[in-house]
Amino acid sequence: MKISGLIYSPNVLFGFRHVTSHPNSWVQNETYMDKIIHSAFEKGRCMLGRLPYGKDLVKTIEDFCAQNSIQTGVFSIIGSVMSATLGSYDQDQQVYVTFKKEEALEIVHCTGNVSLKEGRVTVHAHAAFADIEGRTIGGHIFSETVVYAGEIYIQELLGKPLEREYDETTGLSLWKEC
Ligand code: ZN
Repeated sequence: MKISGLIYSPNVLFGFRHVTSHPNSWVQNETYMDKIIHSAFEKGRCMLGRLPYGKDLVKTIEDFCAQNSIQTGVFSIIGSVMSATLGSYDQDQQVYVTFKKEEALEIVHCTGNVSLKEGRVTVHAHAAFADIEGRTIGGHIFSETVVYAGEIYIQELLGKPLEREYDETTGLSLWKEC
């Protein structure tokens, strides 16, 4: 099958050429489509932890990472919250539209990452929550989202810290090339 402008081969994934010979450099895609801005890291510490009752989920993780010198990493959480502030990005207005749920919710799945924004450790997290009848809601997590109980897995990533910068196209703070 031939599609104009695209080359299909085992080395091509979503228009991104996977180059394993340059693990620490940003990979330019000069051939087709837009590149995926990325970097490679070594695995650092793997941590399991219990989130504190009554504390803000995002701030707690940011504080923990700052105190433990984690500048880049990924995490996942299961548990529950007493309230959640969630949002979705309005791509036309380029603003987050947020809403708050003041009720007990299970954290069905929460995934996020840690990187630097203006030199400060910043968490970006999304989650799906379920209410007492199993109905789910989800979105980008904001403060205040108050922990009832939580179990977090954090994978520290070692290398040149990943940093965010303002992106004019989307209006978001996105990872930049370094
Ligand atoms: Zn988000």
